[in-house]
Amino acid sequence: MSAASLEIVDRWFAVEPVDERITRIIEPHVHEFVRGNIWQVRGSARDLVIDCGLGVAPLRDECPALFANDPVLVVTHAHLDHMGGAHEFDDRRAHAAEPMGDPRGASIRGAVLRDELGLDEELPDLLITARPAGFDPDAYRLRPAPATTRLVDGDAVDLGDRCLRVLHLPGHTPGSICLFDEASGTLFSGDVIYDDVLLDGLHESDRDDYATSLQRLRDLPVRVVHPGHGDSFDGVRLRELIDDYLAAA
Ligand SMILES: [Zn+2]
Repeated sequence: MSAASLEIVDRWFAVEPVDERITRIIEPHVHEFVRGNIWQVRGSARDLVIDCGLGVAPLRDECPALFANDPVLVVTHAHLDHMGGAHEFDDRRAHAAEPMGDPRGASIRGAVLRDELGLDEELPDLLITARPAGFDPDAYRLRPAPATTRLVDGDAVDLGDRCLRVLHLPGHTPGSICLFDEASGTLFSGDVIYDDVLLDGLHESDRDDYATSLQRLRDLPVRVVHPGHGDSFDGVRLRELIDDYLAAA
């Protein structure tokens, strides 16, 4: 398909309030394989932003509220659909095993991305169904955005009135992390777990690590999961998904 024939849209992002503290932002005109969730968590001292989309359109122009309260950006892992907008943030945090400063190959062309990631399943030729004005899919690259803070397991991300704990849970990628708000039982899970087939066969994936990570997650007092893709779910569904994965492993 010719990229030039794509419809041009004025708004690239869709903003969805979840509750009084949490907002979800998605990219609706993106194939679901790379349609990641951007989560904003408001804190008394500063806000937290978890992941930042493909970097196809600038977040700062359309979603200035993300930048209003001295945001900490935590990137759960450096895949294109999670780190694309990272260069827009001053405070960028990720695990050292994720190549934020020298990003992995990325493409809006399905066949190219499939090879770059080591994916088995087929993808459509173009991974977007519309485009912002001026965006050329074939010129798409991830902008390097080295982490300004390297996270390790057990680190805290302090927002003032709430504090989230970093969990290093490798498997999908070597430096995949989740953030857990112990006070409310809220887990931001990135691509460690979501309610669909888990990708454990990419070039950088490790199935043994993945199983160990999910075992660890299973024992946590999680009440709600806000994942890297798709809709949120509860702790019961979390443990079902983990059990299904481990039974098939
Ligand atoms: Zn991923």
